[in-house]
Amino acid sequence: MDISSLQSPIAKKLFPFFISSDLRKWLEDKVALITGGASGIGAATVRLFVQHGAKVTIADIQDNLGTSLVQEIGTEHTIFVHCNVAIESDVQYAVDATVAKFGKLDIMFSNAGIAGKFTSSILDVDYDIIKNVLDVNTVGAFFCAKHAAKVMIPTKIKGSIIFTASSATVICAIAPHAYAASKCAVLGLSKNIGVELGKYGIKVNCVSPHLISTPIVMDALGIVDRETGDKWSAEGGILKGVLLDEEEIAKAVLYLASDDSKYVSGINLVLDGGYSTTNPTLTEAYNKLFP
Ligand code: NAD
Repeated sequence: MDISSLQSPIAKKLFPFFISSDLRKWLEDKVALITGGASGIGAATVRLFVQHGAKVTIADIQDNLGTSLVQEIGTEHTIFVHCNVAIESDVQYAVDATVAKFGKLDIMFSNAGIAGKFTSSILDVDYDIIKNVLDVNTVGAFFCAKHAAKVMIPTKIKGSIIFTASSATVICAIAPHAYAASKCAVLGLSKNIGVELGKYGIKVNCVSPHLISTPIVMDALGIVDRETGDKWSAEGGILKGVLLDEEEIAKAVLYLASDDSKYVSGINLVLDGGYSTTNPTLTEAYNKLFP
């Protein structure tokens, strides 16, 4: 069969499940804003969203990375806006710029985040570290949700708000305390506003990645190169023979952003290869006692 015939509107209607996701455009006519879009998971999501027909605003504090991503993809599909998510007027400006350029906002992917200093003990935690991490990761998520909802509700857009939380929302001792607290707060926020915004048809979800050696992780843990980080993740993972990367997270976000997930709201989509379902402590103790 000529595979291109599956792209026709009639074929799409008749056989939606048989058309591979590579051929089908999941976000045609959709407009998205992605915070932390200049690097890592955010940048991979920008690329995938554009491939699937979306117009995307990249909002980030890394102006050079953000503008070069726009140059790579094209100004027809993307714009870059300097935006520190911890500053409400910056988030409002990014939302307004999106509507001014592309006419509306369907998808808010609140993804910008920082890890903070990797202090292992609560005794070493200080106010500045806690405040900085919570300001970006949690307060920033509040601002993103607020300003997205402010433009979605009056335009009756059945939008999608997605937060990047973390596997730290379901398993402990893998992240700094302030970071874990900030991401658990994001999950609570997500579920709570999902209930409020449900009456407008706006769905709200979290995506929770496990370890990927993006700059945020490499800086926090002092990992020198991606290869070393990947090796470490592979050795520590439960699901063998596959490695989590930014593109896998982007695919999960694509699903939550698209109309294919139209009755999905209030979930925490954890991508950890089953890591959080187990606790290796007993096995490790056994192996030490009976080597
Ligand atoms: P990354 O460092 O590649 O990307 C983070 C982006 O956020 C950067 O572009 C950075 O400039 C931007 N950013 C930081 N502070 C900002 C601010 N105040 N305002 C706007 N933008 C800001 O790392 P990543 O792994 O792609 O991180 C994306 C999200 O994924 C973060 O929320 C992170 O906490 C979360 N996450 C990452 C992992 C992982 O293992 N990489 C695991 C779980 C969750």
